[in-house]
Amino acid sequence: MSFGGKPLSSGFRAEEITVDRRRFLTLGCACCTLLALNVPTMALAQSAAAQAHLDAAKKAAGQDLVAYLRLADVAAPTSGLLPVSPEDLMKLPTPPPAKVFDNLYFVGNKWVSSWAITTSDGIILIDAMDNDDEAQNVIEAGLKRLGLDPAAIKIIIVTHGHGDHYGGVGYLKGRYASRVVMSEADWAMLEAGLEFDRPDWGRPPQRDVAVVDGSVVTLGDTKIDILLTPGHTPGTITLAFDVKEGDQTHRALLWGGTAFNFGRQPDRLPRLQTYIDATARVRDLARKQSVEVFISNHDLFDGAVAKIDQMRAGAPNPFLIGTDTTVRALTVMHESALATYEVWKA
Ligand SMILES: [Zn+2]
Repeated sequence: MSFGGKPLSSGFRAEEITVDRRRFLTLGCACCTLLALNVPTMALAQSAAAQAHLDAAKKAAGQDLVAYLRLADVAAPTSGLLPVSPEDLMKLPTPPPAKVFDNLYFVGNKWVSSWAITTSDGIILIDAMDNDDEAQNVIEAGLKRLGLDPAAIKIIIVTHGHGDHYGGVGYLKGRYASRVVMSEADWAMLEAGLEFDRPDWGRPPQRDVAVVDGSVVTLGDTKIDILLTPGHTPGTITLAFDVKEGDQTHRALLWGGTAFNFGRQPDRLPRLQTYIDATARVRDLARKQSVEVFISNHDLFDGAVAKIDQMRAGAPNPFLIGTDTTVRALTVMHESALATYEVWKA
């Protein structure tokens, strides 16, 4: 197990984001995908620039990536998708856990996902859902159902410092002594105070392993490249790694924090700019590394549960979307952020 690697020479650093933590609000609307709206949507009609970005987002989304257009709903309700709440999604029956690639497994519900990467020396778990109950009954039980041993969870990577991703860490760490990895910026954010909180979220973990842009998390034969992709939180991380299917290896990205739920924050514009920069940078990387798999930690965006249903019905692996589609997804996110920026700055 190691957490080495050099920070990349280019790109942004979370430290550049100015965050007035005293102004962080706990408003009840604490979820990651619901969007804290406080902008007049009519402003959009007055902004040709915003409309151009919305059009670009819609064009990139095509028919298959419409879910990401929810992001542009901050600027204008272009997606036509109905709003959903975490409460509603959490109440839905837990979908069965699933093997998605030979070394990648889904354990989650309709609201939030955890992913398990199996290695030659144990499991790397990505995110821990909302609380002890889900850690036990969705993650732990799901892994067992898949024939995996939860005691093999050596590392838990938390994509960002919101409770629907760290809430179950306490339960798992307590049972399996897993190391907990989060970005330096989001450890610092949690230590300064919670940006959002909910009564059904577990308490934040104590600082353990801090990573930065360019860090590499290694367990056995598996390396995960850490990319700092701030915006959703100051220290959201996106993970790049290989997935295997038979004798094929494919490059995968797991985007760590998608929604613009910081519309009420005083620093929303610089924060959104970091998201704009992050999506542009990772889109370049996706082209260079020929990324063919693009997944999320919320089913709302990647449609993981429906894809798993398709796999069960015998379809070719629907998670293997290809590089062009991965680039289009990042374009929808990027253009939606640009559209939102135009509206917020107005
Ligand atoms: Zn979040």
